[in-house]
Amino acid sequence: MQDWRSIGSFADVPAGGSFRIVNARVPADLAPALQSPQSANKIVDCEIIIHNGKIAFAGPAFDAPEASGLPVFDLRNGIVLPRFVEVHTHIDKSHIWPRIQNENGTTVGARVAIEGDRNRNWTPEDVRERMEFSLKCAYAHGTGALRTHIDSYGKQTNISFPVFSEVRQEWKDRIRLQAVALFPTQICVTDEEQFRQIADAVEKHDGIMGGVTAPGGFMAATVDLELDRVFGMAKARGFEIDFHVDETIDGSVRSIEHIADAAIRHKFGGRILLGHCCSLSYMPEDVFRRIALKLAEAGCSVVSLPMVNMYLQDRKDGRTPRFRGVAPLHELEDYGVKVMVSSDNTRDPYHAYGDLDMLEVFREATHILHFDYSDRPWMRQFGAAQAEQMGMVDKGIISAGLPADLVITRARTFEELLTRPQSDRIVLVNGLQIDTSLPDFADLDHLHKHARVAV
Ligand SMILES: [Zn+2]
Repeated sequence: MQDWRSIGSFADVPAGGSFRIVNARVPADLAPALQSPQSANKIVDCEIIIHNGKIAFAGPAFDAPEASGLPVFDLRNGIVLPRFVEVHTHIDKSHIWPRIQNENGTTVGARVAIEGDRNRNWTPEDVRERMEFSLKCAYAHGTGALRTHIDSYGKQTNISFPVFSEVRQEWKDRIRLQAVALFPTQICVTDEEQFRQIADAVEKHDGIMGGVTAPGGFMAATVDLELDRVFGMAKARGFEIDFHVDETIDGSVRSIEHIADAAIRHKFGGRILLGHCCSLSYMPEDVFRRIALKLAEAGCSVVSLPMVNMYLQDRKDGRTPRFRGVAPLHELEDYGVKVMVSSDNTRDPYHAYGDLDMLEVFREATHILHFDYSDRPWMRQFGAAQAEQMGMVDKGIISAGLPADLVITRARTFEELLTRPQSDRIVLVNGLQIDTSLPDFADLDHLHKHARVAV
């Protein structure tokens, strides 16, 4: 029998993809067989039987079938999670920080810096290497599905989308990928031909229609026409929608209400995800209530990106930030809006830090959004909530019949789980332990050597 005293090398998890995990603990909200009226938001005892890389059983030990002959892996009450799901990232712009920084740490500073770097350096080779590096990080941390936005500006659309398609194919057995076109929605009015080209790329590469509705906190007077065109195109071509919305602490910026109105007006039946939605936290209560009700009616979900909000929002030179910019997730959920969290940017001018580790995101979100002291099923934020938004019903949960894609930790309680970074976590993919060593940042140095951009 193996136990935690001997874990630490590949030899320690039973090899072969068939074994029995005993004395495990699992958040009940992530395992259908463990759910009961009393189990919400609780971590409960569990036994997991893995056969040929698939979960044959995951439930209470007293329900477990006889599995004599299988190697036993005793977790001594360690918590097991499904592999993580990221619903909002930017792996096309990640890891450019060594060659282009944000001069003042603001959203505007980021936008200017990215534009210069994109125009000069984002060749297919550059985009591919940074995407692959990002995925290596996410995979090693335990992520099994990931959605990225793809900067879709001018010629970049037809550089990055084909690279993404190839990477998605190459990574399909490790991380299941989705991509969203990201562009200012104003171009739907100012440059209809470019908008059509973006839609063509989305269609060709099986992507999702996106856009930023109030770039830099500025919402154009044409926003309703812009949205009519996006929703019209999405309906005509069968796209889902995923917008960047109101990334500002100015409560008067309310493109989110225009989006909800457009979704209702167009009777849009596809999934809609709205990222950031910071300004919702700075509106009068009656306005927030009106918008929240519309979001619920329109079927819009909201993803908060708390680490990036902490980095960018209310940043002024030499002054301590007062307003932190996270969307009011508790209150949105009260109104029936589906909510979730994700990483957003990593090592680029929008966020100098981050490594696509959903455990870090969850830990930070617990501090920032107060997931603790709450009866809401926040542990679904490890992946179940995001997987539903992505239409991946086999991701983000632990259930019989699914691949044994698991993250195993030494932590026995919620508090132990969040107290340490769980750097010694074990990741199983199809029941086999993967190498969780992270790629070396130096592997990307050659991309940055001659690529510095003056801002
Ligand atoms: Zn984003």
